[in-house]
Amino acid sequence: MRRLKGIGVSPGVVAGRAVVLIQRAHVLRYQIPPARVDHELQRLDDSRGRSRGQLVEIQAQLSERRPELSSLFDAQLLMLDDPMLLPRAAEIVREQRVNAEWAVQQVFHEFSAVFDEVADLYLRERKGDVGDLVGRLRMNLRQGLSTPRDLLRELDEASVLIADELTPSIAAQVDWTKVRGFATDAGSRTYHTAILARSLDVPAVVGLHNASELVQAGQLIVIDGTSSEVILDPTPDELERAAHHADDHRPAASVEAYRRRPASTADGVPIRLDANIEFPDDLAAARYAGAEGIGLYRSEFLVTSGVEDIRDEDRQYEIYRGMLEGMAPGSVTVRTFDVDEEQLASRLSPHAFTAGWEPDEARASRQGLRGLRLSLTRPDLFRIQLRALLRAARHGSLRILFPFVSSVEQIREARAMIVTAAADLARRGEQVPRVPIGVMIEIPAAAYTADLLAREVDFFTIGTNDLIQYCLAVDRADERVSRLYQPLHPAILRMILMVRRAASRQRIPVSLCGEMASDPAQLTLLVGLGLTEFSMTPGAIPVAKQVLAELRSDELRALARRILKLATIDEIEQALLAALGRLTLTKGVAS
Ligand code: PEP
Ligand code: MG
Repeated sequence: MRRLKGIGVSPGVVAGRAVVLIQRAHVLRYQIPPARVDHELQRLDDSRGRSRGQLVEIQAQLSERRPELSSLFDAQLLMLDDPMLLPRAAEIVREQRVNAEWAVQQVFHEFSAVFDEVADLYLRERKGDVGDLVGRLRMNLRQGLSTPRDLLRELDEASVLIADELTPSIAAQVDWTKVRGFATDAGSRTYHTAILARSLDVPAVVGLHNASELVQAGQLIVIDGTSSEVILDPTPDELERAAHHADDHRPAASVEAYRRRPASTADGVPIRLDANIEFPDDLAAARYAGAEGIGLYRSEFLVTSGVEDIRDEDRQYEIYRGMLEGMAPGSVTVRTFDVDEEQLASRLSPHAFTAGWEPDEARASRQGLRGLRLSLTRPDLFRIQLRALLRAARHGSLRILFPFVSSVEQIREARAMIVTAAADLARRGEQVPRVPIGVMIEIPAAAYTADLLAREVDFFTIGTNDLIQYCLAVDRADERVSRLYQPLHPAILRMILMVRRAASRQRIPVSLCGEMASDPAQLTLLVGLGLTEFSMTPGAIPVAKQVLAELRSDELRALARRILKLATIDEIEQALLAALGRLTLTKGVAS
């Protein structure tokens, strides 16, 4: 048994098997000193050993239940010994002196290039096996830790969540009827997620510094939010105590009551809460959470999931139509594909490549050719998507949203494409209704020219996820600077206010769909800045309704005015959380 002392931010005692979540685990590239090369090679070797063990186990399980499928993993086991794979990754580590994760990723690209050249369809499809195996190797390089989405999908009963940090939007994706409590390395008593924990009635301890390193996935853990402790491998007595307390907690009960209510502040200002979704199937979750509509459908998941043929106009039409009918009378805002070159190219079969379109590894980047910019370079694909959308528009309330816009010229070009797509349909004898066209404000240049852009479009959607990273020059995937990724930076607040004012002057609606909206504390500040429309991950909607219902809009405006005069993020956070500390939500905080 081992006890870790942290800060109890939500009372109660619970026990469960640990699910470990490392949010900052990305494929990073970093240089290693010569003395570390052997260590990286050892990590590669360990990852191979773990992967082999897992594959053999999967095969054994399958041979009992689905014997016909177990041979599928023979290929992956053979690949583990292929000199082109791990020995090649080791060579990259030695020669380029880079970390093992990056080397494995490079090998995957090399493999992919070879497979794409192969004419034999069977062999080409083996690329999927390599991708699967590389994913496993990478996962094992992170010592068995998976991505947030994977982990959250695989939760079984009686889990507790141990994370390096837990953003409100990730917290919102957790099924709190299965996860009994959480503990994080980061955080303080005023940590934003703490507010969420208390409103959900989930015991939580934060500020543990290195719990996510010490706790092994699957380890039995007690989280005691009342005495601010996390107990690893608890004694039977400790487990008994947790079981005794468990009856006191009916997670999420208070929030549940808010699902069906329309959102408004305590003084009756209506607030529109839409849902962000990635897959058409998420519609059910959006409706269940009480979303008014879909404020952001990230249609690019049609591209990246690899399931759909994005050149099939009829198939896209069916998907969009299904969403519009499923959400009626609520509106659905479909964002056109926001992918980069590499993502798009990897989803188009080799015969679709046209001259000059092969992905250029050196240039492929989330900063460059992406979103609307990329769509405009592929009018063939863009026109298919626009035609499918315009056809679907007859079946509900559709809005089309263009991502990653940085100039008026791009909007005009995109509008011209819409006219062309509508003309295609008119020639086919199809009626096209008028569809509102909007842009994401997610590049600082767009925020600074919001007054000019507002004259060209019907609505704005502020994408704070990208806006923050480009405004503050912080690549969120680079953990060395991710601490500088600060939504409450005065520059971000001023930009949001500027965009909101530009939209008001032009009398066009503006919503905000970045992660900021999922954070109850930041949401209230955004309402204070005058925003009244938001789109967020569905799970965050009931909590947002509850928080808003307890606050008066005039007080929030006064709070925002005070906060806009503050110079540092610390001061801003303190002012915000002090104001929210008066909420009844914060009941029963352990002191
Ligand atoms: C954003 O940038 O804030 C946004 C919502 O878009 P995405 O997260 O999909 O880039
Ligand atoms: Mg974005």
